[in-house]
Amino acid sequence: MKDVKIENMDWVSYHELTKKGACKIILPIGAIEQHGPHMSLNPDVLIPSYIAEKVAEKAGNMLVAPAISYGYKSQVKSGGGNFFPGTTCVTGSALENYVFDVLQAYVGHGNHEFILINGHFENSMHLCEAADKLVKKCAVEGITIKIYLLSYWDFISEETIAQVFPDGFSGWAVEHGGVLETSIMLKIHPELVDMSKAVDVEPAKFPPYDVFPSDPTWVAPSGTLSSPLKATEEKGKLILEECVSGIVKHMS
Ligand code: ZN
Ligand code: MN
Repeated sequence: MKDVKIENMDWVSYHELTKKGACKIILPIGAIEQHGPHMSLNPDVLIPSYIAEKVAEKAGNMLVAPAISYGYKSQVKSGGGNFFPGTTCVTGSALENYVFDVLQAYVGHGNHEFILINGHFENSMHLCEAADKLVKKCAVEGITIKIYLLSYWDFISEETIAQVFPDGFSGWAVEHGGVLETSIMLKIHPELVDMSKAVDVEPAKFPPYDVFPSDPTWVAPSGTLSSPLKATEEKGKLILEECVSGIVKHMS
């Protein structure tokens, strides 16, 4: 299998592959954020990175840029909150500018099409802003670019949800550190998961508002927003296959 990761290429090979915009560039964007005591801090980076590589290998005309690991501030109702030790985040403007700069550099190399694969819910609107600003700036300069933006969980079908959550699905918002991410990590990085430390919690229930400063009592002490106990490698495989084939289908 040829290497699809830009960071592993020499510049001459990269230039050969990308000149005249011959490749779509995939940029994974994640976060460093606690995901419970049973898992590493980086699922939001590793999951979109893995998906990006598989998509690029299948599509043939795509390359994967090095992931952006730091994401926008973890929010209580989607990521447990920014106050957990280990959760290490940046402001929205920092993320937006960073993504803008990275994409602009790739445009400078002659690339015109991009796929942003997001792995951290809170990043979404800041990625919209970076993409929108760059498209407009390039248009002013007479350069036409196209940027696709997606969060991988949006490619998971009702059928798969029914298989992965046979007891009922509480929604993606409370899947932080739960069955979804833990299953995928068991499949792609089992060495970073220790199910003996997994804590059973009820799906989180939140009031219909946010409060600042955050109230840590809204979140279970373990940090996950639902229970990871029913995670399995098989569920992870099922989810990944659907995400990869769905993204390839829509993007190639
Ligand atoms: Zn996550
Ligand atoms: Mn996250």
